[in-house]
Amino acid sequence: MGSEYHFLLRKKWYSDPADTDPTYIRTAVMKPQHQRQEHTASYYAATARDTTRYPVLQGACTADICIVGAGFTGIASALTLAERGYSVAVVEANRVGWGASGRNGGQLIGGFTGEQKIIKRFGQDVARTIWDMRWRGHEIVHERVQKYSIACDLKSGYIDVAKNRRETGYLEEDFANLEKYCFPWDYRLLSKEETQSTLGTGAYAAGLINMRNGHLHPLDLCAGEARAAHHLGVQIFEQSPVSNIVHGRKPRVETAHGHVEANTVLLAGHVFHRLEQQRLSGTTFQAGSFIMATEPLPEAIRNEINPQDLAVCEVSNIIDYYRLSADGRLLYGGRTNYSGRVPASIRASLEPRMLKVYPGLKGVRIDYEWGGSIGIVIRRIPMVGRIDDNIYYVQGYSGHGVNTTHIMGEIVADAIGGTMERFDLFAKMPQIRIPGGNAFGNQIVALGMLYYRLKDLL
Ligand SMILES: Cc1cc2nc3c(=O)[nH]c(=O)nc-3n(C[C@H](O)[C@H](O)[C@H](O)COP(=O)(O)OP(=O)(O)OC[C@H]3O[C@@H](n4cnc5c(N)ncnc54)[C@H](O)[C@@H]3O)c2cc1C
Repeated sequence: MGSEYHFLLRKKWYSDPADTDPTYIRTAVMKPQHQRQEHTASYYAATARDTTRYPVLQGACTADICIVGAGFTGIASALTLAERGYSVAVVEANRVGWGASGRNGGQLIGGFTGEQKIIKRFGQDVARTIWDMRWRGHEIVHERVQKYSIACDLKSGYIDVAKNRRETGYLEEDFANLEKYCFPWDYRLLSKEETQSTLGTGAYAAGLINMRNGHLHPLDLCAGEARAAHHLGVQIFEQSPVSNIVHGRKPRVETAHGHVEANTVLLAGHVFHRLEQQRLSGTTFQAGSFIMATEPLPEAIRNEINPQDLAVCEVSNIIDYYRLSADGRLLYGGRTNYSGRVPASIRASLEPRMLKVYPGLKGVRIDYEWGGSIGIVIRRIPMVGRIDDNIYYVQGYSGHGVNTTHIMGEIVADAIGGTMERFDLFAKMPQIRIPGGNAFGNQIVALGMLYYRLKDLL
């Protein structure tokens, strides 16, 4: 399944104009009344089919499980738990899908960061479990889209692309693993010429097509799952930042205007929350990337640059990723930022990169530009664990997420029901905590990524 290094390469590192201000994190949690936000001005928000409007949490409420955060982690978990008969309340500071889940590249990619580290620690016995797990999120997404009729432009088809011989080696390694595990979906290693005719660019040395991966409108998926959960009885509260959690036999999740009393709490606030700092500070750091959307491209151009409608992802250390939207725009993402700074113009920083791949797109109008934050953990192993017997957390996917969040939602729901096998694979992995907390940690992440950026140039 590729080297650990390879997995690191393909992770996405993102940041966002509204969110990269570190004061947001403090004020959003500690002074919530000033910080409730609407969706960022993304292509997804502009084209969302389902504009969620759930009430603010006011007064007292009870549930078996209270989930903090309504991104994919929170919503996917809520839906799994509701399907299993639990009563659930989800409390969101802003809107369903407001964070990374509603503004990402929309690429449904197999695997999660840190796979090799887990196998190294627990031995080859768990390799098959990890392999199956790396595709489980796809199954959940496909099942839900069908079962709950969620319109989210879900499409199969994805290609990893390599720029040089070294990166081609990563694709060959991935290909060997697909062979080894008798991967039942279509996949194919492409030569330079085949990659060129698949993507209409000579920018790449090779490609690996995987038809199990794909792409979708992430905000529509998140909102659609939230609606399905709501129909199953999940109480969802928006514009309700959680300011505190009181521990106990029945923990209490508090906001400015109300609280939820539950048997169990799940923290799914990603990189934005500053709850439970005694245990979690200095573990998850904010990084960012940016996306722009062109105007809808004429059919002739779409057929030239991506006739199979694949999601495309580079395998360099610092990746670019792109795909066509359902209405024919090129959504081009990349331009990683590890310091929390936002480029003066997202378009100005991304457009030259797009034109390097597709010079023929010079002059196309850019209709949207936005960014988002991801949570990076130093060892790249998703942070899954418990603060108390009844307070769980799941965060820090280091770039992956559409697939991984759905896997984690199921794993944490299993754990709440008493099945710990897959949960423990993550929970027992040691994590690194940076003394000095979050600001200092971000400098370390920035330095680490500078190293990888230089490696790309060598
Ligand atoms: C620009 C970008 C592109 C990406 N591209 C891809 C991609 O193509 N494929 C892929 O697999 N992954 C991608 N990712 C990563 C993926 O989007 C994330 O890993 C995933 O969405 C994380 O989901 P989450 O639910 O954990 O966090 P989020 O979606 O960020 O949700 C966390 C939620 O918690 C809420 N919250 C925080 N604190 C509180 C509080 N105190 N009280 C109440 N609510 C709170 C926030 O408001 C937020 O809505 C990308 C990320 C970004 C930013």
